[in-house]
Amino acid sequence: MSPSWIRLVSSLKRLPGVGPRMAERLALFVLRSSDGEELAQAVLDARQKLSRCETCGVFTEGTACRRCQDDSRDPGVICVIEEVGDLDAIERSGSFRGRYHILGGVLSPLDGIGPGQLRIDSLLKRVKASASNGRSVKEIIVATNPTVEGEATASYLARLLRPFEVRVTRLGYGMPSGASLEYADELTVTRALEGRQELAAE
Ligand code: ZN
Repeated sequence: MSPSWIRLVSSLKRLPGVGPRMAERLALFVLRSSDGEELAQAVLDARQKLSRCETCGVFTEGTACRRCQDDSRDPGVICVIEEVGDLDAIERSGSFRGRYHILGGVLSPLDGIGPGQLRIDSLLKRVKASASNGRSVKEIIVATNPTVEGEATASYLARLLRPFEVRVTRLGYGMPSGASLEYADELTVTRALEGRQELAAE
């Protein structure tokens, strides 16, 4: 096996959900097809131009995304989500006109993900800053997924937010535990938003 082949396959193997067999199939695909060059260029281009929006954390070109600059969106309600796929699911439902905050994952001690690896500090800063600039945040909807880690993260956030004068709510999921917001249909997302309930800090 040539070093370039080994390097390509081992890079692909590090992608989420890609095992050794799939990595080899993908390697063959990018070598055989001109799509391989387009993919390589797109990756380099995206890595160079995109960075997280300083406010909500979505990947964007520049320092602020268009949603954070959209004055028609209510700055008083922030929906806290794990990643951008959840944001897309909520936007598709058309039932939310507030702001977002992307955590970049959930607390997962086994995977070495603690509060420092997530965008939790920036959420607290946002809530604190909002009180001083007169656009105070009234409600934080914690929309992490109904998984063990998602629930633990929600409780952790509720505890951190307790000192602030802000209502902390949790989506009233109409879907089974372990499900993902990202793959929920519009109606389920709308019902989950409408059915949100006060999240008590433990
Ligand atoms: Zn933003």
